[in-house]
Amino acid sequence: MALIVQKYGGTSVADPDRIRAVAENVAFTKRRGHDVVVVVSAMGKATDTLIALANSVSKTQPGRELDMLLTTGERVSMALVCMALADLGLEAMSFTGSQVGIITDTNHGKAKILEVKGDRVREALAAGNVCVVAGFQGVSTDKEITTLGRGGSDTTAVALAAALSADACEIYTDVTGVFTADPRIVPQARRLAKVNFDEMLEMAGAGSKVLNLRSAEFARNHNVPLHVRSSFTWEPGTWVSAEEPSMEEPIISSVVTDAGEAKVSVLGVPDRPGISAALFEALAATNVNVDMIVQNTSNAGTTDISFTMPKADMGTAQKIVEQVAKDIGATGVSHDDSIAKVSLVGAGMKTSPGIAAKMFRVLADEEINIEMISTSTIRISVVIAAVDMERAARSLHTAFGLDSGQAYSAPLPERH
Ligand code: ADP
Ligand code: ASP
Ligand code: MG
Repeated sequence: MALIVQKYGGTSVADPDRIRAVAENVAFTKRRGHDVVVVVSAMGKATDTLIALANSVSKTQPGRELDMLLTTGERVSMALVCMALADLGLEAMSFTGSQVGIITDTNHGKAKILEVKGDRVREALAAGNVCVVAGFQGVSTDKEITTLGRGGSDTTAVALAAALSADACEIYTDVTGVFTADPRIVPQARRLAKVNFDEMLEMAGAGSKVLNLRSAEFARNHNVPLHVRSSFTWEPGTWVSAEEPSMEEPIISSVVTDAGEAKVSVLGVPDRPGISAALFEALAATNVNVDMIVQNTSNAGTTDISFTMPKADMGTAQKIVEQVAKDIGATGVSHDDSIAKVSLVGAGMKTSPGIAAKMFRVLADEEINIEMISTSTIRISVVIAAVDMERAARSLHTAFGLDSGQAYSAPLPERH
């Protein structure tokens, strides 16, 4: 008998039929003799709807109250899944993040998990129950309800799997696994049978939302192998684990696209020590996640600094940047949210020179202008205009030999 954590994302619990299908799969697993802990997301686009509701009521939205609101989405799903399980004759109990002792820091909206107690889950399992846990939430060291950031149910599942020493952590979603690119953008993408933690981490960091970044970090740090698979076809998917890629595997394993960032440029910045520190310390203090940074060479004692960050952080960042720009004597600030980031990820890159040059050539041949570049040992990212993102991804996918030769065939539910 094994302990299995199963996480079901928003599209997997989007309507009553989907919820009943999830319950059937949980019952199937339980009847094979396994203990099951289920982690659920909010139904379909429920979280987006709650955010829109908050936007329509308030400009201020204190973090504590927004988290109180957003955590209700997952509570709806957990109760409904338990009811569907009861209809199948299973004993099931739902728990909020707080009830299972998911302790986080106090950073509302993107809280980090500090500890998972899990006592109530252990007790309920020992009594023969299926446990259904609300994803994406915890309780802070100040005893306030917190959320873990968008896509945070993945993190809940991996953290619980680690804390409970689960035998498997299954991430059920609306595609059949981790692909060489987002199959909604590159229909010729191929499903990968396995991906190693380092690659998954770079893919998630580059903005592929198939797994959220914190969950990938958690899986690697605690060595929790993940099985990413479909709740629509139920076929075996992709294993994410510590296994190193073999020599025959391609140098590039995936092309990652991210249209969720915006670019800010601070213009006419005096070129002297301490300026970047002043700007980025102020942003860090409010937890804005700055991604790529480019500083131009100085011209007549001034320079321009550009950086990217999630569009969702733009509201917070804008006020800070404008204030710092004034304080340091910069001439202006500009914003551009019609940008996109395209990245190549592959563990084989470490030992293969020339990947960046080939990437830039492919983009040049497509007449796509590169605005920013950043690299790690196994990733190269470029910022380009958002309108060019899909064309860039498809041509890079073909040029690096990743095409499957056929379009993605499993059902792709409409996006929330
Ligand atoms: P869930 O609600 O199940 O958490 P998400 O929307 O967060 O689902 O993540 C699944 C989506 O991730 C897929 O529908 C797909 O469009 C997207 N995606 C992006 N990159 C990839 C990739 N490399 N492989 C598979 N899916 C990807
Ligand atoms: N419901 C949350 C979101 O939409 C968390 C999740 O689905 O993982 O971001
Ligand atoms: Mg997700």
